Amino acid sequence: MSVLKVLKFPHPILREKCEPVISWDNRLQKLIDDMTETMYAAYGSVGLAASQVGETTRLIVLDTTSKTTREDYKVLINPTIVEASRNKTMREGCLSFPEYLANIKRATKVTFTAFDRHGELKTYTVQGLEAIAIQHEIDHLDGVLMIDRISSLKTDWIRRQPKGETALEFTQNTPTGNTYVEPSESQPLAMQSALVAPISDPNRRSLPL
Ligand SMILES: [Zn+2]
Repeated sequence: MSVLKVLKFPHPILREKCEPVISWDNRLQKLIDDMTETMYAAYGSVGLAASQVGETTRLIVLDTTSKTTREDYKVLINPTIVEASRNKTMREGCLSFPEYLANIKRATKVTFTAFDRHGELKTYTVQGLEAIAIQHEIDHLDGVLMIDRISSLKTDWIRRQPKGETALEFTQNTPTGNTYVEPSESQPLAMQSALVAPISDPNRRSLPL
């Protein structure tokens, strides 16, 4: 297995619509293994879409729990959302936008189908972080990025705290992967950075995608 390079915005492949998987061949199995290793290697990442590593195929790896237990590790091929709950605004990050966070409205609970790595079709109902993550990753498969989902660049597109500023104690622990937290307008950015950094629980990866 190898850790793959994650493409950053504005790489053109991130804008491509990915093609459905039609063959469960060795190449697909290797891509699954490499994407899994890449996801776990990126601190804070809880999901990765194939387009982020330059492959325009409808494949996602997801794990919103810990690298150690891999309790919720999923390989999702040709995923389709079949039911979604009402939307709520949450804060996200993305490995393809390492310097930014975004406030985005997503369904808090979704039901979706996807094939696993052996070609078996399964149905999942997930909520919370996992629901946010699957919507974020399916967006990637359609060439949709989190900057397309915000209502306002001024209020919903947030630069992460650069190192060396007053929030250093927080930003040193801020994961670079995808993020998920309820935004709070009343808190200064330094405190918001603290919220996205699971300092007290290093095994809890609150960040995907
Ligand atoms: Zn992303």
